[in-house]
Amino acid sequence: MTGLRLDQDYQVHSTFSDDAKSSLFENIRAAESAGLRTMCLVDHARASTAWVPDMVDAVDDLRPRAGLSLLVGVEVKMLDRRAARFARAGCRRRPHPDRRSPIPV
Ligand SMILES: [Zn+2]
Repeated sequence: MTGLRLDQDYQVHSTFSDDAKSSLFENIRAAESAGLRTMCLVDHARASTAWVPDMVDAVDDLRPRAGLSLLVGVEVKMLDRRAARFARAGCRRRPHPDRRSPIPV
C-alpha cells in the first residue's frame, strides 16, 4: 500500500493521567512536529477524579498551529451503571457505558 499517512491520534495521555510523562503542551508540540491533523487528549479518570474541568480549561488555553484539531476526552477507569460518578467529576455529558467518548444525554 502506498500513500498511507496516519495523521490522527485518538489516544494521547498527559500528566493529568497518573502514568503519563508528557504535558499537554509537550503533546501538542509533538503532534505538530509529526504533522498530525487531529489529536484527542484523553486521560485516565476515576471516581475520585476532580481535574476534568481543569483539563478542559487547560486544553482551551492551548494554541495549536492551524491545521491541528484538538479533541478532549477521558478514559474512565471506574463507573457506576448510571455514570453518576463521572457526572460528579464535572462533565456536562455522561459517557455511554460501552463507549470511551461522551455522548449527549
Ligand atoms: Zn490509557
